[in-house]
Amino acid sequence: CGIFGVIGAADAASFVALGLHALQHRGQEAGGIVVHDPEHGFNSARRLGYVRDNFTSPDLMETLPGPLGIGHVRYSTTGNKGHTAIRDVQPFFGEFAMGGAALAHNGNITNAEALRKELIERGAIFQSSSDSECIIHLMARSLQRNIPDRMEDALRRVEGAFSVVAMTGTQLIGVRDALGVRPLVLGKVADGYALSSETCALDIIGAEFVREIEPGEMVVITEKGVESRFPFRRQNSRFCIFEHVYFSRPDSIIGGRSVYETRRQIGVELAREAPVEADLVCPVPDSGTPAAIGYSQESGIPYAMGIIRNQYMGRTFIEPTEQIRNMGVRLKLNVNRALIAGKRVILVDDSVVRGTTSRKIKEMILDAGAAEVHFRIASPPTAWPCFYGVDTPQREKLLAATMSEEEMRDHLAVNSLKFISLDGLYRAAGAAEGRNDACPQYCDACFSGEYPVEPSDMIERGFEL
Ligand code: 5GP
Ligand code: SF4
Ligand code: MG
Repeated sequence: CGIFGVIGAADAASFVALGLHALQHRGQEAGGIVVHDPEHGFNSARRLGYVRDNFTSPDLMETLPGPLGIGHVRYSTTGNKGHTAIRDVQPFFGEFAMGGAALAHNGNITNAEALRKELIERGAIFQSSSDSECIIHLMARSLQRNIPDRMEDALRRVEGAFSVVAMTGTQLIGVRDALGVRPLVLGKVADGYALSSETCALDIIGAEFVREIEPGEMVVITEKGVESRFPFRRQNSRFCIFEHVYFSRPDSIIGGRSVYETRRQIGVELAREAPVEADLVCPVPDSGTPAAIGYSQESGIPYAMGIIRNQYMGRTFIEPTEQIRNMGVRLKLNVNRALIAGKRVILVDDSVVRGTTSRKIKEMILDAGAAEVHFRIASPPTAWPCFYGVDTPQREKLLAATMSEEEMRDHLAVNSLKFISLDGLYRAAGAAEGRNDACPQYCDACFSGEYPVEPSDMIERGFEL
């Protein structure tokens, strides 16, 4: 998901709408905005679909006045996956003794089922199927006398990955879990501040990037400025390495590094680790593009747009059912026949999850008369599901969970298939020495199976580590 908030803007709702539009790649199912102004109090709007189709209507935006607002774009990983009901659309809102608060969450709470059960037994009335709603109910039960303190209380009971943007009538609040799995950055606008999942959404509103919110940090922003605290036990950070590979936008800056540059460097590493003789390097657009550029630069094999993407389609993996996903590849991607015929082609993609995309693309490329097809993948084999906010299917559906690299190559029937090594990926992401196995610098559980936070709900349901 994508989260965004602003305080001290003339018209917070339009800033939030623009920010969410720039974060649309993080969630395309739905979006919501909550604002506050002293005269009208809290107002909100939640809609299914794209930001640009909803939060551009003057009639709607007029109902969202005020200088303070937060928003969320949704991509479901828990609750009713893929069938977003309006009741699951964030931000969530709660009215407490000391006033109202709204909250938007990116990540995944790994003990949400246990918390929900306990809260319901103690009288909580849940409105949604979302794991994030637990935070509001935990806040309602806290005995603290102000909202930031209640959020601290609530979040200390929550396990898993969370970046949160929240607001009261006078405060904009940002929090990251102690491992800092999901991103959150602080920006400066003319007379106030903004919080955003990624820096690309600061650019769109002309905000200046100030810094990242640190793992385990809570910031409480008012008209007076930014107050910082560290409510959680300090731990070594474990940022999601898949944000670098796929999830974030390439024009964002993470940990002082351009995401584009990391992805290009992944291509360079791949060309060194897995060279092959060929005529063309083609990306599977758009997610494979920067890595393909890096592969081409390092290998000297010409880069070409062998696959053309229809710009009016979204991301394939947001499509929740197998059937739509199968269709989706052809609706979204087509081979540039004139370029491919008779050529030995290296295809670079970011990841192989179920193998749907790779299989379809290979068929399309061979239909177009390619002489050879070589896959180069910008991440290690995805052999484990993510429980921290990226929607990967159950383990059985992951190609790499049951097959070796050679078996996958045979299954996809391509001339060769190579994945970047975990060390190569770490080097590309800026860890010069590669992965520190004793104390890994990133979360890489979907590749390594080493889960930095025990997925307790899943273990309860029988998932084996
Ligand atoms: P596949 O078709 O192998 O299931 O998915 C791989 C391709 O789709 C990649 O190009 C990646 O960009 C995207 N993708 C598809 N499904 C998922 C998913 O469930 N999780 C993630 N992280 N990426 C996916
Ligand atoms: Fe990111 Fe993978 Fe860790 Fe999930 S399991 S947070 S996708 S690195
Ligand atoms: Mg892709």
